[in-house]
Amino acid sequence: MKDHPVKILTHKTISIEGYSRAAVQTYWRVPELKVGFDLGAQPWSFMGTPTWFVSHTHIDHVMALPTYVARRRMMKMDPPTIYLPEGALDPIEKILRQVSRLDRGRLPCKLLPIKPGDEVELSRELVVAVSATRHTVPSLGFVIWERRKKLRPEFTSLSGQQIRDLRLAGTDVTSEIRVPRLAYLGDSAPEGLDDCPAMYQAEVLILEMTFVSPRHRKERIHKFGHMHLDDIVERRDRFANEVVIASHFSSRYHTRQIENFVAKGLPDMLGGRLHLWL
Ligand SMILES: [Zn+2]
Ligand SMILES: [Zn+2]
Repeated sequence: MKDHPVKILTHKTISIEGYSRAAVQTYWRVPELKVGFDLGAQPWSFMGTPTWFVSHTHIDHVMALPTYVARRRMMKMDPPTIYLPEGALDPIEKILRQVSRLDRGRLPCKLLPIKPGDEVELSRELVVAVSATRHTVPSLGFVIWERRKKLRPEFTSLSGQQIRDLRLAGTDVTSEIRVPRLAYLGDSAPEGLDDCPAMYQAEVLILEMTFVSPRHRKERIHKFGHMHLDDIVERRDRFANEVVIASHFSSRYHTRQIENFVAKGLPDMLGGRLHLWL
């Protein structure tokens, strides 16, 4: 059986899996963090991921939502949790009810609304921060933060025994530090990046680069809520990320064309950190 394409990139302790092509299909997940972004299609291997965030409701980012819910029910897995831009909740609930009627099968899932500024706790260690992006429909970006406990600097010179005594006496010897592990921009004009500085700091950044040809003018593209290769070139010094995955290329380009335009605009591929998801 032919399945949807999945590319995989491993970085430190996480692997980024997915595929994205404008107007065709977009889906990503990080199996180690048990979270996924967008449901434009649903490769069989993705079914085990229990929590999803939908960036916006263009068909190629949300179409597989009923399929995903139905498959999990069929495989007797727990109902999934799916976070959606708040205005999408009601229409998606209605769609699920109609699909359920046609299919004569239940579609058990937890749908929850999110908006810019929200923080969703995935676990004690992981928090997803929701940010505003700019597209032709309401849209969101996401940063996964890892929370780590760190010994407060005033205690670093103490011995293990002294620290244990302090802790037993009720002193909080640690403070929380947050590390942005992964950012997912979704579909957006450059403001989606610029207004969320953590996107530039995340260890892994997944961004869209829908247009690459000089024939497609970036000013016009911004109006449609997308980015151009030139936008990345202009911002090249701002990316502090260890890995940048560029995706969501327009299907009007051939693979070779994309590679050639990017090689011309960014000959060092951001110091080797830029990966084209083709
Ligand atoms: Zn899209
Ligand atoms: Zn879109």
